[in-house]
Amino acid sequence: MSDRYGNVRVQVEQMKSLGDNAEKGGVDTEERLPVSSPSVSASPDPSSSVPTDASSFSDIPKQRGKSRSRPGKDDKPDSDGSLLGSVVPAPAVKNLRSPEYAQTLLIKGTGKILQGKSEPNGNYLTIHASKKVQETRREDGLKPSRKRRPVTVDTSKAKTSLEALKLSIKQLKWKEFPMGRRAACDIYWHGVSFHDNENIVSGQVNKFPGMVEMLRKVNLSRAVRTLQELFPEEYDFYPRSWILPEEYQQFSTQIRMVKENDAAVNPTFIVKPDGGSQGDGIYLIRDPSDLKLMVGSHAKQAVVQEYIPKPLLIDKLKFDIRLYVLIKSMEPLEIYIAKEGLTRFCTEPYQEPSQKNLSHVFMHLTNYSLNVHSGNFVHSDSQSTGSKRTLSSVLYRLAAKGVDIKRVWSDIIALVIKTVIAVVPELRVYYQADIPPGKPGPTCFQILGFDILLMKNLKPVLLEVNSNPSMRIEHEQEVAPGVFEYVPSPVDEEVKVGVIRDTLRLMDPLNKKPTITSQARGGGYEHMEDIPLDPESQGRSPDEMGNLPSLCLKQVYPKYTKQFNYLRLVERIAALFIRFLGVKGNMRLGPTAFRTFIRTCKLSNSNFTMASVDILYIDITRRWSGAVPDSREAGMGLQAFVEAFFYLAGRRFKSLVLKEQVVSLLELCEAQLGPQLSVEDRRSLSCSRALPRSIKTQSVCLTNPRLNSPAPQRRAASQDYRLHARPKPRTLRANVEN
Ligand code: ADP
Repeated sequence: MSDRYGNVRVQVEQMKSLGDNAEKGGVDTEERLPVSSPSVSASPDPSSSVPTDASSFSDIPKQRGKSRSRPGKDDKPDSDGSLLGSVVPAPAVKNLRSPEYAQTLLIKGTGKILQGKSEPNGNYLTIHASKKVQETRREDGLKPSRKRRPVTVDTSKAKTSLEALKLSIKQLKWKEFPMGRRAACDIYWHGVSFHDNENIVSGQVNKFPGMVEMLRKVNLSRAVRTLQELFPEEYDFYPRSWILPEEYQQFSTQIRMVKENDAAVNPTFIVKPDGGSQGDGIYLIRDPSDLKLMVGSHAKQAVVQEYIPKPLLIDKLKFDIRLYVLIKSMEPLEIYIAKEGLTRFCTEPYQEPSQKNLSHVFMHLTNYSLNVHSGNFVHSDSQSTGSKRTLSSVLYRLAAKGVDIKRVWSDIIALVIKTVIAVVPELRVYYQADIPPGKPGPTCFQILGFDILLMKNLKPVLLEVNSNPSMRIEHEQEVAPGVFEYVPSPVDEEVKVGVIRDTLRLMDPLNKKPTITSQARGGGYEHMEDIPLDPESQGRSPDEMGNLPSLCLKQVYPKYTKQFNYLRLVERIAALFIRFLGVKGNMRLGPTAFRTFIRTCKLSNSNFTMASVDILYIDITRRWSGAVPDSREAGMGLQAFVEAFFYLAGRRFKSLVLKEQVVSLLELCEAQLGPQLSVEDRRSLSCSRALPRSIKTQSVCLTNPRLNSPAPQRRAASQDYRLHARPKPRTLRANVEN
């Protein structure tokens, strides 16, 4: 597959002509973090990487993280630089230094050829974006033409994604049902949640049950923190976070201690209300006493998070990346990443946080919805300028400055896969509750919006994941004084229509493998042999698809199963949990089911009697229901069960580190439970003792090594229980533009 996605080829001389002195220092050579995941390191292909002679921007690292280990080619999650296309230099060298020098950037998979010229300031000016060339269509290896009925799509609940969806359906020559349809449709497109249309018993829905809940700020933080406990190095891409109000004491004590130890340390924190979006209610603080814990008469849940003080800047502005990720299927897990994304820019030059500038939202928050109100906002009419640009144009620009964008891209892929692995366990619980085995129901897929910040040292940091990323392709503009209209936004259209269209192509029911549907039930794990080797090559013939470009979505999982499967430990715990849930539609274990689990897995003995089991159950369950004040369902949720499981593992295998304790207990339980999980399943998911990397238990801090994440600290203080909470059912967030 790697040949299909070209490497960026930027010649040294070209780079010099593209250099942007204004941005010198934008990439920090000193502050290099050791990158923790050897399994994802991408050793750049010397023939395709960035210049070796970049003296004109010597402050830009050629490669990041010297200490990073570099396993073989196969171990790279994306050595093909697929997003990045190829820059095709043609003219003679003598012209290369000319700032007017034009070149073409073929963004493979998006079907576009960006043609442009470099401006003296380093911007890349698009001359025109040509339509997809014929050859790239053939790259999909599409099947010979045959006539079939059009795929039917119910768009009646599409909300703000409707425009992009309509365009996509038109390009595919499929059939749209804007008012719904009495007969079943092949695909139902929902604007908000799985439940937008009730009673769908067949077809496919573009939302998973529970995704909205799982991706709320508090729940995402909890899910990632659980994985951080097990794999601190691999999950160091998420800023240290505390959940308010329950972890207020821990947060303030820790900050006080850090400051007492070193008066020069003065970290900044960002506070995000749990239900917030579009930057609403977000503020920065430097002291715990500045927290606004109470909203009205009661304490609102929020996440307080380490603020990343040194983001990568372009044109002196902070920006973040919106990346579209498709979960094509949860069982087996199939993840695709869009090769093209968006970048959203602040509108006030960035300065590191100080007491004076903490309230400058246009400097610190990249939300489109906020910055659009700044007088400095520039609506982009090309892809590489303005306050919202394509990701490829930004990467192109970074490559031109000598940044190793292949490595950045590979780190981003790793971040995405690991994040999905963190949220999938709880999603499985929601899934079986909504569509239990045996009950007719649709299969699900979902496009997620990952918000990612690049640190100055180029390390990607996860800010949040949106379950309903805005798919709007127009923006509001004042066309005459006081008169606002929605006008097309070329950048949004370019990116979002491609993502929706190609999601539909991948979900085309007439090309779907039946094995996936039948497996999408009931808590087991995938059989690797059922996974299509190259799903991107599935599809209709070019004629049927109306001369469409090759897919802009790239499969990253199961493609990189080998590198990431060992992280799927909590999923195995979730499989046990689901097995003992019993009643269809249930999401919590009752005390009897918990006892049955202990008995069946033979976990009690004279040192740990059934009476202790009951106490453990009551203690953990009570604490969790306290942490989630408005939780309605009684019993033990998955996160509480995971806590109990960690506790049991710690008791039984005292001498091991947590990750090994958990693996050992899982193996013990799975052996007792017998063949529901096949040998292949277990082998493929086993976190074997011979892990591909060295095992360290210390948490790695993003910016301040003196701050520890709350969960490991809790464990260090006591071998008892951790504090987590089940996701709350809440009002669902509508489609929003961040
Ligand atoms: P919302 O859902 O309200 O958009 P986000 O978590 O995306 O909330 O945060 C809003 C913005 O704040 C982000 O787009 C980013 O610019 C900034 N931001 C969020 N978290 C951090 C962080 N930990 N460090 C630095 N900036 C951050």
